[in-house]
Amino acid sequence: MSQTANFDIKPYWQNYINGAWVDGGAGRLAVDNPATGEVLAEQALADRADIDRAVQAAKACHQSGALSDLRPVERGRMVQKMGQYLLNNIDEIANLLCLEAGKPLWEARVEVAGAARYFEYYGNQAETVEGRSIPLGSRYLDFTVYEPYGVSGQIIPWNYPLEMTARSLSAGLATGNACVVKTPELDPLSNYYMAKAAEFAGLPVGAVNILCGYGHEAGDALTIHDDVNQIVFTGSVQTGMAIAGNAAKHVVPCVLELGGKSAAIVYPDADMDNLEQSIRWGIYFNAGQVCSAMSRLVVHESVRDEVVERAAALANRLNVGPGMERAEFGDNMGAMVSAKQRDRAEGLCRRAESEGARLAAGGHALNRPGHFLQPTVFDQVTPDMNIAQEEVFGPVLSVLSFKDDAEALAIANGTDYGLVGGVFTADIERAMEAAQRMRSGQIFINEWYAGGVETPFGGYGKSGYGREKGREALWNYVQTKNIAIARIAGTHPGRA
Ligand code: NAD
Repeated sequence: MSQTANFDIKPYWQNYINGAWVDGGAGRLAVDNPATGEVLAEQALADRADIDRAVQAAKACHQSGALSDLRPVERGRMVQKMGQYLLNNIDEIANLLCLEAGKPLWEARVEVAGAARYFEYYGNQAETVEGRSIPLGSRYLDFTVYEPYGVSGQIIPWNYPLEMTARSLSAGLATGNACVVKTPELDPLSNYYMAKAAEFAGLPVGAVNILCGYGHEAGDALTIHDDVNQIVFTGSVQTGMAIAGNAAKHVVPCVLELGGKSAAIVYPDADMDNLEQSIRWGIYFNAGQVCSAMSRLVVHESVRDEVVERAAALANRLNVGPGMERAEFGDNMGAMVSAKQRDRAEGLCRRAESEGARLAAGGHALNRPGHFLQPTVFDQVTPDMNIAQEEVFGPVLSVLSFKDDAEALAIANGTDYGLVGGVFTADIERAMEAAQRMRSGQIFINEWYAGGVETPFGGYGKSGYGREKGREALWNYVQTKNIAIARIAGTHPGRA
């Protein structure tokens, strides 16, 4: 057992297929601790045959009706119970998540609670998926019903391994789909608790299968499998395009939750203390490894110096180091998930400087073991620079400036992405104008990340399609069936 803090970590973690813990056909994968760069534990690595077994288990579960035939309230209670299990074990799960993903312990606890919240919400929603009846005259009784697709294949990224699984799995199960989840290679361990939660909740065997494997092997196998009926993918644009292609070949619907380069427009009348709070959360939470990160600030030129000064002071104030030593919420930040991600982000910083952006804070890796990057602020960024267009997926804020409202909107809308957007102003007219004209799936006025599990989330443009979260997400997991019942002439007495 490897010892970290007061927590023992199993040296080896298996996959979960058809209600059993199993080794992987592709062997084992070493999972690192991003805070040290050392190996934390090993994870079973699924191959294509493992994926096939998991899909067959899910298919058998679906065909048996063990999940889909239940009265929705019963399914909903089981889904809720999964969330209760996560909360009951939050200390243990958060410790593991902190160690495998590099985030501060308090952030890991936020993620476990967030994951539990998905199960609470979609457990509640299970019995609200109702059809309607459509009048066709007295000879017919016509109505729609919503049925699960059957087998839902779900592919998860490493930035929120537990919460992203919870997001798709809770909605998939609540609507009666049997699920096969492909967890991320960099931090798959904490998803062990998803399988434990499913067992605790009494879900039928085969309803939840949790496997780690390489994307190009296990992930690909899941998205080309003939018996997968619906795909949910959260990850990069490049992988999303490959998956959409596979889904199209099988005429299977998919939800794509991809990247972003989201902008907040800051008008001169913005409350600066409030904005600073949003910068703290928007770009430095999870070391900026958030698809909906506030990675661009589009600031009116009259307040640009003040905003840059505040952002740089905040970045310099954040205390960066191992997540385990950052148990409490505060001015702190953890590691990036891997050396590769950190080096990529640092490389993008060098390129930004070479293109003329001014480094106002950070910009360099920490000179210590582990994958740490300083909280970073770039000033004098212009829309043509790479740093203004490419997703960094790290703690790097780009500040651009504007002169008038039209220019602000053009800059904000001037990327291939469209995940979220924000506006900071005291002027409701300006806020409304920006909210209506920004091309993104969610708009935050005066608070980045306002909203919650209840509010639909998803992208415009290359940020993807389909929605997760909120009631909208339910419709991705069900298909509509219309049933028309006709009276056969002469077989009914007719009206008196
Ligand atoms: P990624 O695309 O590299 O990997 C995501 C998942 O896809 C992993 O499980 C990986 O194994 C799998 N995968 C890789 N190649 C595959 C293939 N050919 N077929 C099937 N599966 C394959 O992305 P990542 O680096 O893990 O995550 C970071 C990206 O995810 C960022 O772009 C980020 O913006 C995005 N993201 C989006 C959201 C959202 O809700 N919109 C949430 C989190 C992360």
